[in-house]
Amino acid sequence: MNLHKFEKYPLTFGPTPIESLPRLSAHLGGDVELYAKREDCNSGLAFGGNKVRKMEYIIPDAIKSGADTLVTIGGVQSNHTRQVAAIAAKIGMKCRLVQESWVPFNDAVYDRVGNILMSRVMGAQIELVDEGFDIGIRESWEAALEDVKAKGGVPYAIPAGASVHKYGGLGFVGFAEEVRAQEAELGFKFDYVVVCTVTGSTHAGMAVGFAADGRADKVVGIDASATPDQTRAQVLAIAQKTADLVELEGGILDRDITLIEDYAYPLYGVPSEETNEAIRLCGRLEGMMTDPVYEGKSMQGMIDLVRKGYFPKGSKVLYAHLGGVPAINAYSYIYRNG
Ligand code: PLP
Repeated sequence: MNLHKFEKYPLTFGPTPIESLPRLSAHLGGDVELYAKREDCNSGLAFGGNKVRKMEYIIPDAIKSGADTLVTIGGVQSNHTRQVAAIAAKIGMKCRLVQESWVPFNDAVYDRVGNILMSRVMGAQIELVDEGFDIGIRESWEAALEDVKAKGGVPYAIPAGASVHKYGGLGFVGFAEEVRAQEAELGFKFDYVVVCTVTGSTHAGMAVGFAADGRADKVVGIDASATPDQTRAQVLAIAQKTADLVELEGGILDRDITLIEDYAYPLYGVPSEETNEAIRLCGRLEGMMTDPVYEGKSMQGMIDLVRKGYFPKGSKVLYAHLGGVPAINAYSYIYRNG
């Protein structure tokens, strides 16, 4: 496997810390040891998160292309668009964001707080579009690219979640390499990695990275898209392309992708009561915040899988905390009593 031939533009603080979650582990019976790798603390760029690691491999291509504007897309409370806005500011480019109505919402301030608030403050040009959730390539985004060109700009196209981009999977191949180095220091290996999966390149990159030592299928994706067939197909396609890029011996097969569909209900962006309970439990036992769209669902999934005995006794499980907490501000109504 050869990740190091690809250029990387530093946007993170460096390797992210791994911390133990002893109180949550004990609360769940103590048969499984839980740890978290804190991608939510990976950068000083507007609270960071998983897109920053992906973008480290995409920005060199954007700079080489001669672009002056990063153009991307997400929901109104997209973490991805907030991270791209921060990166554009940091590297001195303009930023154009298409924010679609992916989530039905109750909070009066949904479109004014959290991620979108920060993107506005950081100077991104934001266009709100009334289209529903879809992880695929969107017309509104293609129209924004054309509009930048028509106005004399040079756009650089970043799809939703920086996923269906030729280099979208590389960052999380690097995550696996980083975990291997940390395992050597810790003196043990993780048996499973739990990750929240939606647009797919986080999971795909991890699958490729961990395939290098036979652990691709031990990356347990918890679907938060509620369109799991499309998400699964996208993870597999990105993983296979990424495997080719890094020349992974043996490539990636369908059986290498583990995606659990049980926790995305009722809808993308809408937490269930069980998701909210998982957010509270982890917050109250570990002081570790998760959000109602992504990590709350993967936290719910991990807790439920521990309770069900999915992980054999003695397993060490690494929860990839991919960020996303800013969005909880847009759900204040749910948590008004804690
Ligand atoms: N967790 C958070 C906080 C996210 O912002 C995202 C982005 O979609 C994900 C998980 C899912 O990652 P991916 O889209 O690469 O599947």
